[in-house]
Amino acid sequence: MDDRATNDPSAVIEADRAHVWHHLLQHKPYETVDPRIMVEGRGMRVWDITGKEHLDAVSGGVWTVNVGFGRTEIADAVRDQLVTMNYWAGAQGTVPAARFAERLIEKMPGLSRVYFGSSGSEANEKAFKMVRQISAKHHGGRKSKILYRDRDYHGTTIACLSAGGQKERNAQYGPFVPEFVAVPHCLEYRAQEGLAGEDYGVRAAEEIEKVILREGPETVGALCLEPITAGGGIIVPPRGYWEKVQEICRKYEILLHIDEVVCGMGRTGRWFGYEQFGVQPDIVTLAKGVASGYAAISACVTTEAVFEMFKDDTDPLGYFRDISTFGGCTGGPAAALANMDIIEREDLCGNSARTGAYFGEQLHALADRQPLIGDVRGIGLFQGIELVADRRTKEPLDERQVMAAVADCLKQGVIVGATNRSVPGYNNTILFAPALIAGQGEIDEIVGAVEGALSRLPG
Ligand code: PLP
Repeated sequence: MDDRATNDPSAVIEADRAHVWHHLLQHKPYETVDPRIMVEGRGMRVWDITGKEHLDAVSGGVWTVNVGFGRTEIADAVRDQLVTMNYWAGAQGTVPAARFAERLIEKMPGLSRVYFGSSGSEANEKAFKMVRQISAKHHGGRKSKILYRDRDYHGTTIACLSAGGQKERNAQYGPFVPEFVAVPHCLEYRAQEGLAGEDYGVRAAEEIEKVILREGPETVGALCLEPITAGGGIIVPPRGYWEKVQEICRKYEILLHIDEVVCGMGRTGRWFGYEQFGVQPDIVTLAKGVASGYAAISACVTTEAVFEMFKDDTDPLGYFRDISTFGGCTGGPAAALANMDIIEREDLCGNSARTGAYFGEQLHALADRQPLIGDVRGIGLFQGIELVADRRTKEPLDERQVMAAVADCLKQGVIVGATNRSVPGYNNTILFAPALIAGQGEIDEIVGAVEGALSRLPG
C-alpha cells in the first residue's frame, strides 16, 4: 500500500519537513530535528506521531482548545450541520449563525450585534473598518485614529500589526497603516516611580489620556485593548485602570474596543475578560475559544448604537460594505453552540476560576522556593511567571535560559509557552493557558515540571 494511505510516521515527517512552512518557526534548526506531528488528543493529553504523550498546558499551542480535545459532541454537531447545510454567505442567514448570535448576546449585556468571520485578525480588521467608516460617515473623516497599547497583539494582517505593540511581530513588515497610535502598557511589576496597586493603575490609564490630549480627542475614534495582555506577558491591569479607561473613553467619545480573542469564552473564569473589570465595551472581538478550535469562527460584536450608525439607506455607501467568505461556514457556529453547551453544563467558567486560583497559589509557592521567578501574574486558567536573573534589579533572565526551561518541560512531556519578544530583551515570561477542564492534579504536574526545569538551569 502507498504510505500515503497508512500515514506511516517517517513518511509524514518527511512530507512535513519537505513541504510545510510552520507558523512562528525558525526553520533552520529543523533541517536536522524531526518535526513534532500531533496525532491525537483527549482532554488535556496529546500524543505525537512517535507515540509520546504530553500534558498540554497551552490549549493546542495558542490557547484555543478551551473545552479540551476529543469532544465527539462538537464533532457530531458540526457533521450534522455540514450534511444539512454546510455554507451560505452574503445577505442571507443560516440557522446556526442566528442561534449562536442569540446565545452569545444573552451573555453580553449592552451588546447586540454579531458579525461573523473566521479568525481573530479578521474580527479585529472588521472592528477597525467599522471605526474608520464611522469616522468617515459621522465625523467628516476626522475621528479615524485608533489607539493600541504597547505589548498587546491584535493579529497578523498589516492593519492588525499596525495596531500591534509587539516589536518582534512587527519588525520588517512595515510600512504600516497610518493613524494607529501607541499608548504605554500597564505592567505594574516594572512600574517606574515606585507606584503600586490602584495608584499605578490610575496613573497607567492617565498615560492613555495624555496620548489622547496630545493627538487631539476629536481625532481619536477608538481605543483597542486586550483585557489582559496575553502573548505580551500575561499583564493583568491593576485595580483602577479599567475604571479610568472607561471614564476616559466616555469623556472623549472614543469607542472602547476590547479584544477578547484570548480571554473570551471562560479563559479567566468569567465568560469574558472584561467582566473581571466591570467595564462596558462598545466593540468586542472573539475567536479562539468560541469553538475551541473544532471549527474556524470569529466574531466582532457591537452595541446597537454602533450598528445603528450603518443604517442609512439615503447613502449608497452607508452600510458596512464588508464580506467574509468563510464567515458563512456553518460548521463554525454549529461548533460554537456545542462548545457553549459544554462550558455551561460542566461549569467550565467556574472551574477556570477555582482551579485557576489554585494554580496561582501553587505558582506563588513555587516563587517562594525559586528565586528565578520575579513575578507571578494571571487570572483563572491564564497564568504567567516572569523570570529574572536577579530579583532585586529585576534583570530579565536571558531568553536562551527561558527557552531551555520550556524545552526541558517539553522533554518531561509538559507543553508550556513563552512570550515573544514584545519588548526586546523581555522574552522572559512562561505562559500557561490549560484547557478549562484542568483539575488540581494536572496543575500539580505542570508546576512540578516547571520546578524541575528551573532547578536544572545553569546558575
Ligand atoms: N488578538 C489576540 C489577543 C491574539 O492573541 C491573537 C492571536 O494570538 C489574535 C488577536 C489574532 O487571532 P488569529 O490568529 O486567529 O488571527
